[in-house]
Amino acid sequence: MDQVSFFEWLEQPRQIVLFSSFFMILCFAITKISKLRKHRHHDFRVRDPRKGHHWVHSDFIIKPTFCNICETTIVRGVFCDTCWVCVHDECEEDGNKKLACKVMSLSTERRTMKHHWVKGNLALCSACAVCTNPCGVEPKLCDYRCVWCQTTVHEGQCFGQFLDHCTFGENSKMVLPPFSITLKTVGWKGRRRHVIKEVKAPPFKDWEPTLVIANPKSGSNEGVKLLRAFRLLLNPAQVIDLSEIPPETALEFCRLLPTTQCRILVCGGDGTVGWVLDALDKVELPKRPLIGIHPMGTGNDLARVLGWGVKYVGDEHEIDELLQDFENATRTPFDRWTVNIKNTGLFGKSLPAKNLSMNSYVSLGCDAQVVLNFHKHREHQPSLFTSRIINKLMYFIYGSKDVLEAQCKNLHERVELELDGKKIELPHLEGIVILNINSWCGGCQIWNNNQFEVDKESSFNDGYLEIAGLYSALHIAKLQVKLAEPIKLGRAKVVKITVHKTKEAKKVPMQLDGEPWEQGSCVITVTHKGQVLMLKKKDDS
Ligand SMILES: [Zn+2]
Ligand SMILES: [Zn+2]
Ligand SMILES: [Zn+2]
Ligand SMILES: [Zn+2]
Repeated sequence: MDQVSFFEWLEQPRQIVLFSSFFMILCFAITKISKLRKHRHHDFRVRDPRKGHHWVHSDFIIKPTFCNICETTIVRGVFCDTCWVCVHDECEEDGNKKLACKVMSLSTERRTMKHHWVKGNLALCSACAVCTNPCGVEPKLCDYRCVWCQTTVHEGQCFGQFLDHCTFGENSKMVLPPFSITLKTVGWKGRRRHVIKEVKAPPFKDWEPTLVIANPKSGSNEGVKLLRAFRLLLNPAQVIDLSEIPPETALEFCRLLPTTQCRILVCGGDGTVGWVLDALDKVELPKRPLIGIHPMGTGNDLARVLGWGVKYVGDEHEIDELLQDFENATRTPFDRWTVNIKNTGLFGKSLPAKNLSMNSYVSLGCDAQVVLNFHKHREHQPSLFTSRIINKLMYFIYGSKDVLEAQCKNLHERVELELDGKKIELPHLEGIVILNINSWCGGCQIWNNNQFEVDKESSFNDGYLEIAGLYSALHIAKLQVKLAEPIKLGRAKVVKITVHKTKEAKKVPMQLDGEPWEQGSCVITVTHKGQVLMLKKKDDS
C-alpha cells in the first residue's frame, strides 16, 4: 500500500475506528511498560564474594597489634574491614592465600556451620568461654575469636574442649547466617554484579533479621567505624554503606523475606533517616520493617524523641550495648506529613507544586536563617565543621549574628496562617515553627513536659501538629536555656501558610527537618501523610 492509498483507506469510517483503537492500545502499552520500568524492583546487591578480604590501610598505634601471617608486631599495615585480620603490607599476598574471610553464603542444604576462628588481637577485657579467665592478654598473637558468635577462647586445652558448631551467640536473633542465603550474578560482562537470589529463614527463635544502613559521611569518622564493626558482628551482606548503595536498593532486603518482620538500624543524622523513610514510601514492601536509629552528626531531633540520645560509639563494648538497646526497643507508630509548596509566579500565577515529606518540623523565619547561615559557611569551609562540639558552637555564633542582622523582621506582616481552615491573628513575630515532635534545633524541647496546653499533649502519633511563634533569634537562644516560652499559635491537623513578598524582602528563609533554603512567595500546606513503625528505646529505669 503506497502513501496515497493508505490515506484513502483511512477515510472509511470502519478503518478510522480500527486505526484509532490500534493507536490507543499502543499508547496504553507504552504507558504500562514505562510504569513497570518505574516500579521495577532492584536486586539486593552484595560485595563480590570471590574477592576475599577487603583490605583498608591503617595505623595500629592505639593498641598493640600483631600480624596474622608473620605474628610480629605491626605499627602500620592493612586490615580486613570484614573479618578484622591484620597483616603487614608485605604479608598481604600471603594473607589472601592463607586466611579465609567471612563467607556471606554457604549451601542452603545445611542448617548449621562451624565457628570461623581468627587468631589474636582480641578486644580488651575478653574472657575465655571455657575457663572464664581473661583471654588474649599475652603480648603476642594468641587465643581465638569466632567472627560470627564473637566467642573468645584460649588456644590449647580450652580450644580443644569448645563446641564445634557456631550458634551465632547473642546475635542469632538478628543475624543472617551464610547457610540461609543463595547468591547469583546478574548483568552483562564488565557490569556483572552479585545479588542475593533467595533467603531461607534459619531455625532461630524470635528471628527478626536486621539490616544496618549507615552513612559514612555523617558524624566525622564514626560512620566508617560502625560499618566495620557491624560487618564483624553480622553477615557482611546485612551492612549497607549508603555511599555505595542507595536506600531503595537496600530495602529490597525486606522483599526477600516477605512474611518475616525485618528490622532496620539507620546510623546517621535526621537527614539520613528521612532519606530511608522516603525510600520506604517508594518501594511498597509486603511487610513494613521496624526502623531504629543510631544518631550521628548534629541535629538528631527525631532520634532524641525516640529515646536514641546522641552517644558516640567508639569501642566494641559500646556497639554491643547499642545492639542490645536496639533488640529490646519497643515499637511505636510515628506520624509523617506532606508539605505541599505552591510557588507564586509572575502576576500572582501559581507554578507547579512540589510535595516534600516532613518527619520532625518545618519552619519559616529566624530559626531557618540561623540554619541557612550555618550551612552556607559549612559548604565553604567543611574542615571547620568536623566535630560535634564545634558544630554546636556554630549554632550559637550564627544565632547572635542573626540578632544583629534581623533579616526576618516583621514576618507577621508578610505571612497568613490558617489552622484547620481558621485564620489566626498573628502577633509581632520573626519566626513560625510547625512541629510534629517536641524537639527542635538540635534538642530544644519547646513544650515543657510535652504539654502544649492543659490536657493537650504534644505527641508524634496523634495526627496533630503544634505551631509555635518566635519573637527573634534571641528568643531561640532563651528557649534553648529554658528562660522563655514560645508563642503558642495553636494545634491543627491541616496548616496553611501564605507567604507574600514585599519590596524589602523578596524571600524568606525556610527549613524542613534541618534542610534550609530561601523561599519566594508561595502557599504552603501541611497535611497528614501516614504513619510508620519506629523503634523507641526502652527507658533505662
Ligand atoms: Zn607480617
Ligand atoms: Zn577478611
Ligand atoms: Zn562462632
Ligand atoms: Zn580458657
